[in-house]
Amino acid sequence: MSTILEYTPLATIEQYHADLQRTFKSNKCRPESYRRTQLLQLAYMIQENEARMIDAFYKDLGRPKEEVTFIETHIMIGACVYAIKNLRKWMKTEYAPMDMVTGILTPRITKDPKGVGLIIGPFNYPIYCTVSPLMGAIAAGCPCVIKMSEIVPNISALFEELVAKYLDNDAYRVVNGGVQETTKLLELKWDQIFFTGSGRVGKIVATAAAQHLTPVSLELGGKSPVIVDSTANIDVAARKILWGKTVNGGQTCVAPDYVLVSEDCADRLVEAFKKTYAKFYPEGAGKSASFGRIVDHRSFDRLKDIMDRSKAELLCGGESDRDTKFIAPSIYVNVSKEDALMESELFGPILPIVTVKNVQEAVEYVRQGPSPLVIYVFTTDGKTKEYIRTWTRSGGLMVNDVIIQAASDPVPFGGTGDSGYGAHHGRAAFDTFTHHRTMMEAPRIAELFMALRYPPYTAKNYVR
Ligand code: NAD
Repeated sequence: MSTILEYTPLATIEQYHADLQRTFKSNKCRPESYRRTQLLQLAYMIQENEARMIDAFYKDLGRPKEEVTFIETHIMIGACVYAIKNLRKWMKTEYAPMDMVTGILTPRITKDPKGVGLIIGPFNYPIYCTVSPLMGAIAAGCPCVIKMSEIVPNISALFEELVAKYLDNDAYRVVNGGVQETTKLLELKWDQIFFTGSGRVGKIVATAAAQHLTPVSLELGGKSPVIVDSTANIDVAARKILWGKTVNGGQTCVAPDYVLVSEDCADRLVEAFKKTYAKFYPEGAGKSASFGRIVDHRSFDRLKDIMDRSKAELLCGGESDRDTKFIAPSIYVNVSKEDALMESELFGPILPIVTVKNVQEAVEYVRQGPSPLVIYVFTTDGKTKEYIRTWTRSGGLMVNDVIIQAASDPVPFGGTGDSGYGAHHGRAAFDTFTHHRTMMEAPRIAELFMALRYPPYTAKNYVR
C-alpha cells in the first residue's frame, strides 16, 4: 500500500454505495440544471488545478507537462464543454416516425438515467479515462463512484481531493485502493460499470457484473498495428508513428504497437525512423525532458524481459536503467512474426518493424490475431484504405495519423471483440449511462380500433 495514497476502508465503500443509491432514488441528479452545474464544476476542477495535475503526473510517470495538457487536461475540459453544449439535445425525448400499428399511441423514447454507476480507471491516462465516462454519467443524471488506479498514487490522491471539493458529494465519490477495494466494489450491485484496463481484469469485472446482471463497458487494449505502403509520405509517417509510440513512454492504449511495412518501401521507412529519432532526441532520450518513464518496476521488468528475449535487430535505442524506470525508445527491424516483440501488447516505448511482401500479407497477419483497438494505415491509395477497412476488424481505423482519433468528441471511442465493448466520448458516454425507455400512451379514441383484440375471437370481430 502506498504512503501517498490512503486506501478507502471497505466499510466506507459500502456506505458510499448506500448513499449514492439514496441520492439516485431522490432524483436529485435528474434536472438539466443540476447536470449542467456539475459538468461545469468538473471542467473548472481540471482547469483550476492543472498545475497540480502536471506535478502529480511528473511524480508518477515522469510525464512532460505538454503531454499532460495536450492529452489529458485540455481534452477533458473540452469534453465537458461539448457535453454542456449538447446536453439538451441528448436529453430530448425522441418521437418515433408514424407507423400504422402503434402510431396512434405516439411512441417515444425518453432518456432516463440508468442508476448508480461505477467507473474503474487504469494508470496510464488516469484523468482522461475517468473524466470522459464521468462526464457521461453526470450528463445522463447518474450518481457514480470512480475507482482510480493505485499505481499512480499522486494523481489518484489528488483526484479524490478535488472531486470532494468541486462536485456534489451526495452523488460523486472517489474510491482509492487496489485489488481488495475493487473486489469489494464489484461485490455490490451497480446499474452500469465502465471499466478501462487490461483484458485480464476486464474478464474479472464482467464476471462479477454478471452476478447482478449489470451492464458493463470494457475499454481494453491490444496490439494495434500500423500498415505502411509505398504511396505514403514516408517521412511524415515515421514522425507520427514514433511520436505515437513514445508519448507517455509508450504506455498508451492506442499506441501504434508494431509496424507492417511493404517491402518496396521498408528501407525508406527505416531511414526515416533513424533521422526522426535523432531529431526527437538529439542528446539521447535519457537526457530529454520530452520523454516519460515506465510506471513501476513490474512493468519495467516485463518490458526488459521482452527486449532480452527478442531476436530482432536493434535499430535505435535499447538503453535502460531500472533505478529510474527508464527504457529508451527502441526500434527493432527484421522482426519475425514469431518474435517475443510480437507476442502481446507491448505497452512501452518499443517499436518492432515487420517487413511484409505487400498490404495483402499485412491484412492476412492482422486478421489472424485478436481484434485491436485501432488499425493505423499510412497510404494515399483509396483502394488500399477501403481494402483494409473491409477485410479487417478493429475498434477504430485511422488513416495517415495516430492517436488523435481518441480526442474527438462527436464520434464514439471503443473497442470490439478482444479490445472490449461499449464506447465513450460525447453522446456515446451519455448513452452508456442512459436507459432509452420506450413510452406510449393510448388516447381514448384508440379503443375504437384496439377493441378488436378482445375475445371471443369470432369472425364478427375480424375482417379477414
Ligand atoms: P489493469 O487492468 O491492471 O488495471 C485497471 C484497474 O483494475 C485498476 O484500477 C486496478 O486497480 C484494477 N484491478 C487490477 N487488478 C484487479 C483485480 N485482480 N481485480 C479487480 N480489479 C483489479 O490495467 P492498467 O495496467 O492500469 O492499464 C493498462 C491496460 O489498460 C492496457 O492493456 C491498456 O491498453 C488498457 N487501456 C485501455 C484504454 C482504452 O480506452 N481502451 C485506455 C487506457 C488503458
